[in-house]
Amino acid sequence: MEIAPVSIFHALVPAAGFGARMGHDLPKQYLNLAGQPMIFHALTTLCACEQITTVFVVLSPEDTQFNQYDVSRFGDKLQPLYCGGETRSESVLNGLSAAELEPDDWVLVHDAARPCLTQDHLHKLISKLRDDPVGGLLAVPVADTLKRSDAAGRVLQTESREQLWQAQTPQMFRAGLLAHALQKCPAVTDDASAIEALGLQPKLVACEPTNFKVTYPQDLLLAELLLNERRKHV
Ligand code: C5P
Repeated sequence: MEIAPVSIFHALVPAAGFGARMGHDLPKQYLNLAGQPMIFHALTTLCACEQITTVFVVLSPEDTQFNQYDVSRFGDKLQPLYCGGETRSESVLNGLSAAELEPDDWVLVHDAARPCLTQDHLHKLISKLRDDPVGGLLAVPVADTLKRSDAAGRVLQTESREQLWQAQTPQMFRAGLLAHALQKCPAVTDDASAIEALGLQPKLVACEPTNFKVTYPQDLLLAELLLNERRKHV
């Protein structure tokens, strides 16, 4: 009888960006959110997931902030890597090579700026994709009507929202495939786009709008309300 190889899962959190759209001096992953640096929320959820072996966090080589916090609560499972690049995809690629993973290991790449990730989101992603030949990502079907504008901000046309999704993270791919894809196609804003450029079709796993990315100052307020509300129910 052939024994199926055991799947290994790691998380990789690119956190070497600055987040200029937030309009702060402090990089957005370190802004205070519900009493902690924003990045701690996602790291707490990822480190608490039993299926995940290691949580790599990719920091800028110039980062002087991260080691000012007490990260002992995350234990050895958290591995900081000071190898961030100029772009998100470069940070992910540098992180993958510094982490020295086996090509078949699964990697869940998660943005530091999505603090409202839950264990349910993680379990759903892993269970839907662990036997998938390509991998995939959390996403939500587009709910609003979509308008395309001209340069003056007037509607050119209404676009169909049928079969359109908003990509979220984590995005889960085999380490070897993802590194190959990002090397071949670095000009992407998410990992799935690099995999798509190889002619593969990542699977979309339906998630919730609550796993949104904090980009603008008002997103911070919304995330804080949500996290504080959840805290009341634990
Ligand atoms: O700027 P944006 O919100 O798209 O960044 C998404 C994620 O990628 C953030 O966690 C950010 O810290 C990370 N990033 C990075 N290296 C860069 C740019 C962004 O790790 N050079």
